[in-house]
Amino acid sequence: MIEPLTDGHGRRFEYLRLSLTDVCNFRCSYCLPDGYRKQAGLPANLTVPEIRRLIGAFASFGLWKVRLTGGEPSLRRELPEIARVVADVPGIRTLAMTTNGYRLAERAAEYAACGITALNVSVDSLEPARFAAITGHDRLHEVLDGIAAAREAGIGQIKLNSVLMRGINDDELERFAAFVTERDLTLRFIEVMRTNDNPAFFARHHLAGAQIAERLEQAGWQRLPCAAGAGPAVDYAAPGGRGRIGIIAPYSRDFCASCNRLRVSARGKLHLCLFGDAGIDLRPLLQDDDQHAALLARIAALVRTKAPAHRLHEGHSGGTPHLASIGG
Ligand code: SAM
Ligand code: SF4
Repeated sequence: MIEPLTDGHGRRFEYLRLSLTDVCNFRCSYCLPDGYRKQAGLPANLTVPEIRRLIGAFASFGLWKVRLTGGEPSLRRELPEIARVVADVPGIRTLAMTTNGYRLAERAAEYAACGITALNVSVDSLEPARFAAITGHDRLHEVLDGIAAAREAGIGQIKLNSVLMRGINDDELERFAAFVTERDLTLRFIEVMRTNDNPAFFARHHLAGAQIAERLEQAGWQRLPCAAGAGPAVDYAAPGGRGRIGIIAPYSRDFCASCNRLRVSARGKLHLCLFGDAGIDLRPLLQDDDQHAALLARIAALVRTKAPAHRLHEGHSGGTPHLASIGG
């Protein structure tokens, strides 16, 4: 192994989020309210050999966790093959996926067999009609069945992701808390983020992470100490010990100080920040195994230039139209 990947601000990177596709079948109101629209003239998604070389390069730096995301990663036809290839790269210990739960009930066992060890499933409401209004799909029960199937299939780490929004689903906080407590699950409340496509939605529905934390604390949830290298979520334990809730609050002070992740888009661009200006193309160096050393040098040099923090507070969302374009 060579020196770990670090930037100029003392942060170390052992976690990569890889988007498999920009395409999504849902129409979440904060992300793709009008559904996915194909753009003409874009290059194809990374191929399986390109992905193998990419992950091999990151693993050479000691990176051990990869999350497959999108768009909706389960729509990528080669998902099982990609998962196997990534899981087989020496050094990769955790292969996670973030999904909207589409067809999860039928595919959970296949995912486990391909080496997926952790799943985050997005569930923004526990009321079927509201879930349908937020996502454009009346599939809450299917998604919940998928979570049960994933547990049954032996996927050890399963988390629910919920974007909590003022006037849309913030009245469900206690219901979510009871849901995870009863089932001993982990949930992440995500503060809605402003992107280039959603400023009006953001202005109307943004709910600060601090307010979510206050409500949890009032209900007796206990803040847990931050584990070293754990990333930017702040975790809480339920009063009775069963169930965990994390809060991802990108607008909170010092959020970026614990950043431990890098992102690569479906077409092979390295994004040093979710809200950076543009991705940097790694694809030319993914074309054959002989380029490995040049790829390592390029990645190490780029990571050193990572900015200390995003500029969301100034209303600057970088070049990100919506999170489906990079992989949230
Ligand atoms: N389609 C998959 C899903 O929804 O789980 C994976 C991709 S999605 C971009 C990843 C996560 O980003 C989801 O949990 C989603 O709720 C979250 N997300 C998308 N847009 C967001 C925004 N503007 N603010 C906060 N979270 C967002
Ligand atoms: Fe699709 Fe995920 Fe965006 Fe919803 S949040 S529209 S499921 S990419």
